[in-house]
Amino acid sequence: MICAPFVGMNHHGKNVMFGMGFILNERTESFDWLFDTFLHSMGRKSPITIMTDQAQAIAAGIRNIFLSTVHHRLCVWHLEQNSKKHIGALRALEGFTDLFGYLLKYCETPAEFEYFWKRMCHKYKCENDDWLCDLYKIKEMWCPAYSKKYWSGGILPYQRSETTNKSVSQRLNKTQGLCDFYHVFLDVVSEWRSKEGGRDYNTLRGNRHLAFANIGILVHARSLYTIQAYVLFEEEFIRGTTYDHVDNGLCFPEYSYLLWRPGKDIIKHEVVFNKETHAVCCTCMYFTKTGLLCSHSLRVIFCIVCVIFHKSI
Ligand SMILES: [Zn+2]
Repeated sequence: MICAPFVGMNHHGKNVMFGMGFILNERTESFDWLFDTFLHSMGRKSPITIMTDQAQAIAAGIRNIFLSTVHHRLCVWHLEQNSKKHIGALRALEGFTDLFGYLLKYCETPAEFEYFWKRMCHKYKCENDDWLCDLYKIKEMWCPAYSKKYWSGGILPYQRSETTNKSVSQRLNKTQGLCDFYHVFLDVVSEWRSKEGGRDYNTLRGNRHLAFANIGILVHARSLYTIQAYVLFEEEFIRGTTYDHVDNGLCFPEYSYLLWRPGKDIIKHEVVFNKETHAVCCTCMYFTKTGLLCSHSLRVIFCIVCVIFHKSI
């Protein structure tokens, strides 16, 4: 039987197990049953984003059962596994896996993606490879440049699948039955819950060291966030201190700035700050995707707005 785990992310950025199902085959009606059973166990609440392996029957099942607003993405970890089967010869060439991995995980804009995809096709002469051509046609389903406007909590799909696979499959072999699986499943869930409890305790007890003392926005973030969320926030804050910026139209109530890292960034991001509402938005859309302010917005809030408007942050 095919094992189908449902895994999400908790407030510490770690895996949380929602459930696991078994299906006999990969037909659409099997996935219809699987997703409907999952939806029932979740009080009919559809997820916002769901990441899966690349299979037409899964996509059809998602369309049939979940709301049309559910954003379906392909899991990059599965794409990498599939690439070993389909483009093994290309992967053996020097530098290919680095470039292919960058395309799968890190491209920030469609223009950057197109630039590196063309470079890969040209350098490795793979523009006519059937599997890569099919992958390109569905780029909106896996390339990070196209999924920025959808909430995902910053989940990196390959981390979820890899950890789940290791946690469950390493404790079982193919000769063991459902009862053995059930006990392993309970052990894994219990272990993950125990670790979550430990991290909750550390967050409540700990007073994490601040990268910069006496900066109000960091002190405030530390008081609100879990340690993991605070570390991500602080990294964005520190990265923001390295940016250059220019004014890009200062007209009350909206003030716009362009930001970039000298010598590193190909593209400049635009941050718009509204003086009346104090709203801030950035073209990188990191906040929409993860719920945390991006380095560009933090740079504008901390180093520009507080200087211009004499606000203490
Ligand atoms: Zn940004």
